[in-house]
Amino acid sequence: MNLTKAAARRRTFAIISHPDAGKTTLTEKVLLFGGAIQLAGEVKAKANRRQTRSDWMDIERERGISVVTSVMTFEYADCVFNLLDTPGHEDFSDDTYRTLSAVDSAIMVIDAAKGIEARTKKLFEVCRLRDIPIVTFINKLDREGRDPFELLEEIEQTLALDTAPINWPIGVGRTFAGVYDLEENVIRRLDAKENAAPEAVDTLDASTFADCLPESDRATTAEEIALAKAACRPFDLDSFREGHLTPVLFGSALRNFGVRDLIERMAKIAPSPEPRPASTRMVAPDDPKMTGFVFKIQANMDPNHRDRIAFARVCSGRLSRGMKAMLVRTGKPISLQAPQFFFAQDRATVDEAFAGDIVGIPNHGTLRIGDALTEGENLTFRGVPSFAPEILRRVRVQDAMKAKKLREALRQMAEEGVVQVFLPVDGSQPIVGVVGALQLDVLKGRLAAEYSLPIEFETTRFEVCRWVESADPAEIDKFAASHRGDMAEDLDGALVYMATSSFMLTHERDRYPAITFTDIKDYQ
Ligand code: GDP
Repeated sequence: MNLTKAAARRRTFAIISHPDAGKTTLTEKVLLFGGAIQLAGEVKAKANRRQTRSDWMDIERERGISVVTSVMTFEYADCVFNLLDTPGHEDFSDDTYRTLSAVDSAIMVIDAAKGIEARTKKLFEVCRLRDIPIVTFINKLDREGRDPFELLEEIEQTLALDTAPINWPIGVGRTFAGVYDLEENVIRRLDAKENAAPEAVDTLDASTFADCLPESDRATTAEEIALAKAACRPFDLDSFREGHLTPVLFGSALRNFGVRDLIERMAKIAPSPEPRPASTRMVAPDDPKMTGFVFKIQANMDPNHRDRIAFARVCSGRLSRGMKAMLVRTGKPISLQAPQFFFAQDRATVDEAFAGDIVGIPNHGTLRIGDALTEGENLTFRGVPSFAPEILRRVRVQDAMKAKKLREALRQMAEEGVVQVFLPVDGSQPIVGVVGALQLDVLKGRLAAEYSLPIEFETTRFEVCRWVESADPAEIDKFAASHRGDMAEDLDGALVYMATSSFMLTHERDRYPAITFTDIKDYQ
């Protein structure tokens, strides 16, 4: 297969949303178009679990299921779609951020009644770090929702993102009858038969909606649509691709309405893989040599088997079953004997992947997050970020003889992205950092099950931590020397300052203007 053509067909994306906005329902409906009906059932099973239980085995089981659904690949409209799932629970948001480093675009689902919610905003900000183009789907139009103009205004204001509505709702809640396509001037009706052609509109006035809206709503809807056509920004492909503008579609995932439009629009406008910055050069998707990077590691759900699946995104060339790649961090060869491909349909013959595709590589701990795989070239990819954790806990193992084993186990867990680990420079017990408390449960459960290490967490006096950087290494030395009890090294040996409060952090920032205290760090 021609590499340029193969890459041009790929659409690698994620769906981001606040819990309950309808991500799972939309995923399920999107997969129906790709013919992945059985998988859609599994997604549903996952949704029904409501991810709130904190028992470790439950989480593991949960994660076991999500191994299947972490990546869903399907073909539609002559494109190969790779849909990357992100954990529903915000305690695992680290995982989500890393997954977003592997996509080329995202669909942002918003509940029409709620607008932009906290997690939508946070996830959007992560997308913005890489200017990932975003298509917005305003969901649940079959329920009472907010005024569409107000919702667009909120996206513009809260996210500083231009909006271009592609369609406009006709009615809402009980009167919801479909959408008016602002570009094509056609009506797509909620009650239309599958594959029915949309209705062309010649004149836009109350009579246009004679057979779909109550009389009292017809004139206002016509006026609203006329206003939207006149006043809203038209879609602009360049601004969308640069991450400045989002096309907005209205629909209802539950009623499977607007989903086909959404996916067809993704085929048309969502970017295929583009050249990616690597440490030494830009890597074009049709470069003949294979390159890729690991953005996520999933432990086997069976704790007796130490094998893990590393999810790697292919950035260039062709990855085929059985090929030998080089693991850049160690310079050693790694044999890709049994890579997993994620075609939703039964495609047993698939045994190669191209730029934009995701493959699962089983391994026993050889691969870690951020690892680059190449055909011998020495390069790494930027952009798998770490965020400063929000909870810091000291880890204590009951048997002091096991301190060394604990360090090794923690290193492994950090390499998998389960937690972040900080080793205090004063030699005291390691500190782990997490975004959410469930991560601590997972760590504790896994250390007990896989390493026979019963551990306890203790609160520390530290509340926040930041990586410290400076153009002048002497400044760092000076700072570290006078804050010895507050300094630690992360997995890569990067220096971290741990502060007892954000007040202290601000104070130190003022005192040391030559030092940058950052809360985001790219993996090496
Ligand atoms: P997630 O947490 O974002 O994955 O959201 P889910 O897909 O699990 O949906 C949350 C709830 O909203 C479920 O009860 C869904 O049935 C419901 N829901 C999702 N989409 C729609 C929709 O278009 N209309 C209505 N009325 N309910 C919806």
